[in-house]
Amino acid sequence: MANTKRVYTFGNKKAEGNGKMKETLGGKGANLAEMNLIGVPVPPGFTIITDVCTEYYTHGRDKAVEMIRPEVEKAIAEIEHHTGMKFNDNKNPLLVSVRSGARASMPGMMDTILNLGLNDEAVEAIAQKSGNDRFAWDSYRRFVQMYGDVVLGMKPESKEDEDPFEEIIDHLKAEKGVQNDTDLTTDDLKEMVKRFKAAVKKQTGSDFPADAWEQLWGAVMSVFQSWMNDRAILYRKLNNIPAEWGTAVNVQAMVFGNMGENSATGVCFSRDAGTGENLFNGEYLVNAQGEDVVAGIRTPQQITKIGSQRWAESQGVSEAERAAKFPSLEEVMPEAYGELNAIQHNLEKYFTDMQDMEFTIQDGKLWMLQTRSGKRTGAAMVKIAMDMLAEGLIDEKTAVMRCEAAKLDELLHPVFDKDAMKAARVMTKGLPASPGAATGPIVFFAEDAEKWTEKHNGQKAILVRIETSPEDLKGMHVAAGILTARGGMTSHAAVVARGMGKCCVSGAGDAKIDYKARTLIINGMTLKEGDWISLNGSTGEVYLGQVATRDAELSGDFAKLMELSSQYARMKVRTNADTPNDAEVAIGFGAQGIGLCRTEHMFFEGDRILAVREMILADDEDGRRAALAKLLPMQRGDFEGIFTAMNGLPVTVRLLDPPLHEFVPHTEKDQKELAEHLGISYETVHHKVEALHEVNPMLGHRGCRLGNTYPEITEMQARALIEAALNVRKKGTPMSVEIMVPLVGNVKELKYQKQIIDNTAEQVFIERDEDIAYMVGTMIEVPRAAVTANEIAEVAEFFSFGTNDLTQMALGFSRDDIGKFLPVYLDRGILDHDPFQVLDQVGVGALLREGVAKGRSTRKSLKCGICGEHGGEPSSVEFCHFSGLDYVSCSPFRVPIARLAAAQAAIKEGK
Ligand code: ADP
Ligand code: MG
Ligand code: MG
Repeated sequence: MANTKRVYTFGNKKAEGNGKMKETLGGKGANLAEMNLIGVPVPPGFTIITDVCTEYYTHGRDKAVEMIRPEVEKAIAEIEHHTGMKFNDNKNPLLVSVRSGARASMPGMMDTILNLGLNDEAVEAIAQKSGNDRFAWDSYRRFVQMYGDVVLGMKPESKEDEDPFEEIIDHLKAEKGVQNDTDLTTDDLKEMVKRFKAAVKKQTGSDFPADAWEQLWGAVMSVFQSWMNDRAILYRKLNNIPAEWGTAVNVQAMVFGNMGENSATGVCFSRDAGTGENLFNGEYLVNAQGEDVVAGIRTPQQITKIGSQRWAESQGVSEAERAAKFPSLEEVMPEAYGELNAIQHNLEKYFTDMQDMEFTIQDGKLWMLQTRSGKRTGAAMVKIAMDMLAEGLIDEKTAVMRCEAAKLDELLHPVFDKDAMKAARVMTKGLPASPGAATGPIVFFAEDAEKWTEKHNGQKAILVRIETSPEDLKGMHVAAGILTARGGMTSHAAVVARGMGKCCVSGAGDAKIDYKARTLIINGMTLKEGDWISLNGSTGEVYLGQVATRDAELSGDFAKLMELSSQYARMKVRTNADTPNDAEVAIGFGAQGIGLCRTEHMFFEGDRILAVREMILADDEDGRRAALAKLLPMQRGDFEGIFTAMNGLPVTVRLLDPPLHEFVPHTEKDQKELAEHLGISYETVHHKVEALHEVNPMLGHRGCRLGNTYPEITEMQARALIEAALNVRKKGTPMSVEIMVPLVGNVKELKYQKQIIDNTAEQVFIERDEDIAYMVGTMIEVPRAAVTANEIAEVAEFFSFGTNDLTQMALGFSRDDIGKFLPVYLDRGILDHDPFQVLDQVGVGALLREGVAKGRSTRKSLKCGICGEHGGEPSSVEFCHFSGLDYVSCSPFRVPIARLAAAQAAIKEGK
């Protein structure tokens, strides 16, 4: 450990690290190094590696400081050399920023400290050197505020309270009778610093540190400390980032966007992160620093002229007014803009992905402060990947790998109905920060968004805020959409919403929000908590009330991505569908068959349930057969519908599975009605229903146990299937039938069922003097079946892993009862995921692999698939690929996700 290099310097087009070292340097640090190496102007600095974060947590603060002190001192000396300034010096002070940076970008997760190195004397030196008093004191007051906030823990005490520093600013502004921070004089800023420091002393009991080294260590260590703050933990949880990664710390010479009218700061994207359009865009503020653009304190202006004009048009601002009041950077600082435009172009080409960049212009000179692959909506993700493929920037495999399977979900969500939208009343218009359609009741606090959904049966609320902050993350996550009064297209709300694929309208300046009264007032109309609005994240329009939505239309880029997916995937993707309608939807999404058709769902339709109940309540076999005879034509008709819809694609039909108890009525009223219908007494019905009651129905009389105790049920279903197949074939439609026996744990259970099926089929063939091929297989969902798969495969011609029941039985978790302990297990880290959503690869996955291996040891050609919920979950799909499954089957709307995940697994394997 003693010889490990823990600090990597960069500056003046040289760097010790590079862009590939994200694990060590974090994403920000690695790219700062790489930007130096390719000649982009970046202020000099250094990166303390991520391992030190882990060391900080194992050995404590003091040890961590000792470990890196010599290297940090050397690295600071290097910055001094590059800049000609001195750290911890009151004549020619070097100021630095201290920035966090994990491997994966975690926007706004950990706070950055700017202008570190200032104190009462250094500020005077800066003032003198720059000849700009105001700038020096503005920097100083920002530093005290950030440092107080992040390192010294000066936070508001409750959610309705203001930030203690913001309160001081507000008071001061009121005293001076000014509106904007920029209207405060230098003397006002001096007063502000004084009050800030007094507040620090009052709350923490200590003086604000004047020594730059003390400031630096405090800042570096609190970056490490922030790795474990609540919002960082939550973000990691939502994005599956392991806590072990740790964050790096970047220390970098300051450049100043707040030096006057010839200075600026901004954020930009090489393509549109909302729509994917290939258009450079972004926002900037003159005479501002760091987070000003994203914090939404002042509304920023557009970087490009075309962006500025589009903005003006959408806001109803005339061209003359726009050019005078809200000019673009392109117009205001054409030279710096030209350089920025060239750099963004190069960075995108170099990293071959859409870049999200931060820059600062100090007195006309451009400096780049960050570049990373930009977060984007699902639609933008697909468009950018397909565009870059067409442009020859990336190849097919890269294009497929670039798209995140789970994010396709966004594209399948509904949009506003065009007619409903025209009729809707537009209350106001903000910025189209993150596309989509959202409708719901409004709430004003992130916590309330969570509570609302809990209290109202999962109904999602619209979170309305003046601006959002990382604290609001959880509420944003559960909200249907987000509306903010302040902030631009790169504000926190906008960036986070796009990352989540959540509809967001930001910067709706007409919206007056009162947190205390919990009201939203727009153009004189007052809405209270719980009143409905609708947001159009693609136009920025805010509508009154609920606006109807309709299904999304899929773009040509989406179709192209799906085509590529099928080209690269080895596994097929089928769907779980019980009706011809489901089947058609799934085929539209590219399903290649039905992996699970549950026959019991057909039993509930219309008056069939009466025949089903008659069958269940019959006294003997004859009674059951009479009722089953009524069901036969209905089932046959259903199967014909599905076979016709699937037009030759394989269809796996599962025989009756649930406990009979689920089909009978349980209230006295319903039982009386049934008694009347059947012409028997209420008491008889009641008695029989009681007799069906089981203590543990999921482990009771269900699955193949039904067909083995009442063979006539299997007979009827087999007959319906075979006759339907023959009938459909007669019309010229091709056919591929797979009959699946559920809940087998012992090969003999399957043997008996197969005998019944084969005998029935034989009989039908004789009656009709024609035959048809069919397969008989089983679901592997009882652990014993997986373990004895070699025996089961002697009879079964295919396996379908029913991972819902398999998970239930392997973990001993009842799916219906996990609500009481699963949240606690997830919180404590006993489980990483809900095992019913994400396949437990270590346990259930091992059973699956054993089942495949043993099954194929008996029957080499055994077709294996999965039909549990996991069949549409990307990490589980990948596991299935590497376990050698032939297909996955999932609900219709997850078919595209599974197709992409299957292609990605195949590409990964090929690498
Ligand atoms: P985040 O991860 O939240 O983006 P950053 O560390 O990138 O945090 O920084 C926050 C803001 O401070 C950004 O706008 C960034 O450009 C600015 N900033 C960081 N370091 C410097 C610096 N050395 N000089 C000027 N601005 C800086
Ligand atoms: Mg940043
Ligand atoms: Mg099952």
